Amino acid sequence: MVVHLSGHPKRQRRFGLALRGERLTPAFWRVACCAWALLQCAPQGAWAWGAQGHRWIATLAQSQLSEAAQHQVEHLLALEPGATLASISTWADEVRTPATAAWHYVNLPPDAPCRYDPLRDCPDGACVVAAIQTQRQLLRSQATDSQRLVALKYLVHLVADVHQPLHAGNAQDRGGNRFQLQFAGRGTNLHALWDQGLIEAPAGGPAQWVARQPDRPAPARDPFEPASWAEESCRIVAQPWFYPASHRVDDAYVERAEPVLEQRLADAARRLAAVLNDSLVDARE
Ligand SMILES: [Zn+2]
Repeated sequence: MVVHLSGHPKRQRRFGLALRGERLTPAFWRVACCAWALLQCAPQGAWAWGAQGHRWIATLAQSQLSEAAQHQVEHLLALEPGATLASISTWADEVRTPATAAWHYVNLPPDAPCRYDPLRDCPDGACVVAAIQTQRQLLRSQATDSQRLVALKYLVHLVADVHQPLHAGNAQDRGGNRFQLQFAGRGTNLHALWDQGLIEAPAGGPAQWVARQPDRPAPARDPFEPASWAEESCRIVAQPWFYPASHRVDDAYVERAEPVLEQRLADAARRLAAVLNDSLVDARE
């Protein structure tokens, strides 16, 4: 995260030592200005559940796969020995480029009642809703196994992302990245709180909940509706308590947020399993 890294005392010391006694050349300022400009363009903070959230969702989904889907997943993962659904769940963030960054979220305007409009909200298919639809089609197609493995990696990641409420937030504050907060004695922002802060809460919180989740099959029918998954996220963000007016996350906020967070993790896992169960039915070997 930009704020945390630049504020790290060790990093500041190292940077200070590197500059001390050196003349700052025009070339230095050109590089510095370019870096600053890039930072202004880049999303402020991560646009994803933290790694822990992604791994939980993938692990829960794996326990809900049908035998056929499990078999197909293993067949595709065998292209990368040792890979699991959990281990590939963060790949899409690692390979993110300016061209694919928008696949991880959708912005819904706050003045509309959380209704997704593809023409307005997803120009050129550059949003999480369209990306999920495209990758699902690819996974179901007769494409090569390596192409379908890429589609699997994207699906495992993006179905999770669309369930992070702030991945269907509003553009003005960049999905909560610009809403600064105090949480557990530290400065953070609302997006990071929902990506990671609540998940890694010291009291255990969702970690204990995940450990209690039984292995169970996904329900026979779970409609494939990524647009309504995004709209659900948007409606959570629109609730009056979601943006704490005091910019402080107190115990009451955590108590309110945790069941919502747990429900989103469970919904993401169940729907991911349903997508895979529905897409991976034919023996393609
Ligand atoms: Zn992401």
